[in-house]
Amino acid sequence: MGGSWRRFGQFEILTLLDGSFEAFSEVFTHTAGPEARRAAITAWGEPTFRIDVNCFVLRGPDGITMVDAGTGTSWGEAYGHARAALAEAGIAPGSVRRILITHVHGDHALGLFEGDAPYFPAAEVWVPQADLSFFTDPQARASLPKARQGGFDIAERLQRLYAQRLKTIGAGEILPGIELHPLPGHTFGHSGYLIRGAGESLLLWGDALHLGDFQSAAPEIGLEYDLDGALAARTRRTVLEQAAREGWVVSGGHIRGFGTIEPRGDGFAITPA
Ligand SMILES: [Zn+2]
Repeated sequence: MGGSWRRFGQFEILTLLDGSFEAFSEVFTHTAGPEARRAAITAWGEPTFRIDVNCFVLRGPDGITMVDAGTGTSWGEAYGHARAALAEAGIAPGSVRRILITHVHGDHALGLFEGDAPYFPAAEVWVPQADLSFFTDPQARASLPKARQGGFDIAERLQRLYAQRLKTIGAGEILPGIELHPLPGHTFGHSGYLIRGAGESLLLWGDALHLGDFQSAAPEIGLEYDLDGALAARTRRTVLEQAAREGWVVSGGHIRGFGTIEPRGDGFAITPA
């Protein structure tokens, strides 16, 4: 969907919709155990759920920065629309200066590649240090089932194809007006990016939440895709609390639009902003 640019701090920001992901609600998890999990699936009320897959463009003082890169051509024709959306915004891949990756999963990083070449010929790729460490660790790979090993292949391609244009980053200010905000659990180095503004600040929280309203109300509900479900749930509650307290606007890899957070009952609510 052709979105519109929205300003936060020194940056104008555009959401690129890459595609729409559908899965069975059987992948829901709950930190309180099987009964709570079953109750969450019942409360959802549908056998499946559908979520957007997003990445973001930041137009700032030193050119174009992206947050995540979509799926490219790797997930078939229902995905990869971020590339057309980028072109529609008048931005050529060659004019993207850097891409900040929230975590090394396919729906966020495969768009960096075109076959066995980098899709962005001039961009640096900045990856949270803890995520690249994990996804390049052979022992970590061996500890996971085959279906969960995609990130390791991506990390290998990142190192090979982006070579000296691959940079690792840690918590805190990584660029004037942008802070890396660690949100561990979904993956161990999973991170959000906080764009500081004098008025509004925006937290792009990656996959801290996949289902905005549902998981805000009950942050203990997770998805099987969280590598460490208990840690992901603690992180979810903490980031919701912090976003509410600080008045941050939030968006992310799988929620639609922008929202603000407020406490509600035992959990939180997102209001479109
Ligand atoms: Zn994701």
